[in-house]
Amino acid sequence: MIGRRFGALTVLARAERPGRYWLCRCDCHGKRPGSSLRGLKVVSDGNLYQGSPDSCGCMTAAKRHRARQTHGMSQTSEYRTWKEMRARCENTNGPAYRLYGGRGITVCERWRKSFEAFLADMGPRPSRKHSLDRKNVNGNYEPANCRWATSRQQNQNRRDNVLVTYKGETKVLRQWARERRVRYLTLYQRIVVYHWSPERAFETPVAKRQDRTLRFEGKKTSIAELAARFNMRCSTLYMRIFRYGWPVQRAVKTPTRVDRRTANKEC
Ligand SMILES: [Zn+2]
Repeated sequence: MIGRRFGALTVLARAERPGRYWLCRCDCHGKRPGSSLRGLKVVSDGNLYQGSPDSCGCMTAAKRHRARQTHGMSQTSEYRTWKEMRARCENTNGPAYRLYGGRGITVCERWRKSFEAFLADMGPRPSRKHSLDRKNVNGNYEPANCRWATSRQQNQNRRDNVLVTYKGETKVLRQWARERRVRYLTLYQRIVVYHWSPERAFETPVAKRQDRTLRFEGKKTSIAELAARFNMRCSTLYMRIFRYGWPVQRAVKTPTRVDRRTANKEC
């Protein structure tokens, strides 16, 4: 046994411990990173024949080092981005899976297999404010659909890119709003914010502003009634109460700009 080689290990002598253990010296003589003291290692008979370990430890350290060095970017935000993208689409236990992989969104084969390919297609992230964005939010992670974008650009993109399928036709929400003569924000709120189905969103009539009801002085009343009573415009009341969230008292008691102008004239 003495003098035999197993990988980088050469058997020097029987080790001074019970069982069949051998004192071996590694080819590196303890000079490689991750090696043991002077490259000496005590290995059992069985392990030597199985070929593991086959060095004093320097080889595994080198292997790990090499793995880290393959693209040299594992600590970069691009690499983190790539890993997180894959997790969103592939890790069924991940928190975001429901919104990505669970909706059928995938990472293209080229990117799935290789971080280098992803980096080559996307280029480096332009700044810390940029993150990975899909132009079509229902599309996949693939070169044609991805870019680095700031969160501001992304929000704009989300709003502009809501695709809605209704009666077998898929269109951008803005287009639907134009065609159906409904305010875009109304549709956006119904579908994106409240998660209504397209059918419900398109088929539920939009309440006319003057018909919106509210409680005032303990009684149910409508915008139209209040406007008549306080001699105000429906739209002003509506905006104050439903858009700006004013209390009804304040909405009806605060003079409108027109009132103020005439009041000034009288002074
Ligand atoms: Zn070694």
